[in-house]
Amino acid sequence: MNSPIEKPRILLFTAKLGYQTRAFDAAAKKLGVELVFVTDRCHQLDDPWHDRAMPVRFEAPEEAAHAVMQAQAGQRVDGVLALGDRPTLAAAYVARGLGIAHNHPASVEACRSKLRLREVFRDAGLPTPWFRSVPLQAIPEPALMGITYPCVLKPVSLSASQGVVRVNNRDEFLAGASRLKRLLESAEIQATREPNLDRMIMEEYLPGREVAVEGLLTGGELRVLAIFDKPDLLEGPYFEETIYVTPSRLTETEQELIKRSFVEATRALGLTHGPVHGEFRLNDRGVWPIEVAARPIGGLCARALRFQIEDEHEPIGLEELLLRHALSLTGREAPRETAASGVLMIPVPTSGILEKVEGAEEARAVAGVTQLEITARWRDYIAAWPEGSSYLGFLFARGETPAEVENALREGHAKLSFRLTPRLPVEHPVTGKV
Ligand code: ADP
Repeated sequence: MNSPIEKPRILLFTAKLGYQTRAFDAAAKKLGVELVFVTDRCHQLDDPWHDRAMPVRFEAPEEAAHAVMQAQAGQRVDGVLALGDRPTLAAAYVARGLGIAHNHPASVEACRSKLRLREVFRDAGLPTPWFRSVPLQAIPEPALMGITYPCVLKPVSLSASQGVVRVNNRDEFLAGASRLKRLLESAEIQATREPNLDRMIMEEYLPGREVAVEGLLTGGELRVLAIFDKPDLLEGPYFEETIYVTPSRLTETEQELIKRSFVEATRALGLTHGPVHGEFRLNDRGVWPIEVAARPIGGLCARALRFQIEDEHEPIGLEELLLRHALSLTGREAPRETAASGVLMIPVPTSGILEKVEGAEEARAVAGVTQLEITARWRDYIAAWPEGSSYLGFLFARGETPAEVENALREGHAKLSFRLTPRLPVEHPVTGKV
């Protein structure tokens, strides 16, 4: 009897089971690939994968990797991918243990710490702001530290700009540091068990325009998939994202400098294989790598990217491109489609309980708008930045030019209105604290 031909198998490490994992699932079905989800979210009721999801704890990456390798023993594994920042280290250990092309765990670990990242960039001679890390327990007197303003305070290992604050003078420094301390001490953040929740980083504020760059590494060679302009200036005090549009409207020379900076940053970190996402600032002093992460662009935003395989009718999504890359299949070299494309991460105007969303139909009807997804849940509390880290939703647009796309996103956003009512403070019955 012939044994059935085994499908290629990919382990997908993910902190969230949602839009992006569903997109991977669809792409895997199309390619005849078996996906195994490795996640710390198995308790989620909306988990449609049940037996195909392996529960682990990402805060203990070596332990998680050991459990995955034991469970996979004797089975075929062709590739390892990680989505979101938290699972990247466990994925790197597993790939190393199984001898699968991937980044070294030390490189991935450096990306997970905003402090380590700065040290690596500084030691490699890349443009780096001055930076310092201090314990939050006794908030330091800024005058004694000889810091200059404006500067940025940030946590060591959170993501999505959560807790990142620009401060312009001593009073703002003290208020910003207390606010960051409160956030890091909150039950929600403590539950993540991220390392270094008792420290903060302070660093020079870098003025300038910002871009996000999506890249794909193969054996140490970086291919830039897209440069996204961020047409809204991100000048603080908080840094929630808004619009991303590609292709970039920067000059060829500026784009080349960004690509070179991305190559230098990935080399300094020792990243070699798989998706990478970077954020860069440009000003008259050059191109500054702000952060590099060993993962693809987050969640729904990936929908702004489509790639055109020659002679194929329909473009493919980033998820399919990454699966093809992980398996060295044809089509992995497909360029981004020629249309301009963009996404608006819908900002949270004020913290509160989401009571009402209006204007969705009108926003969807704006010429150029292709999709609107409201991801915040009705009657759930949603926090504005700097405490927040989730958007109200995502609006997508396509067009002939980046300007057209940007205008469609702005017009669509203007049609939307959100009613958020403040959560009433609850007093602790014993301490009386709010
Ligand atoms: P996260 O990993 O949480 O996104 P980052 O360090 O990338 O944290 O900072 C988030 C955002 O804050 C950046 O995209 C940028 O807009 C802003 N930012 C961070 N550091 C600086 C800095 N030194 N100067 C100016 N803006 C900064």
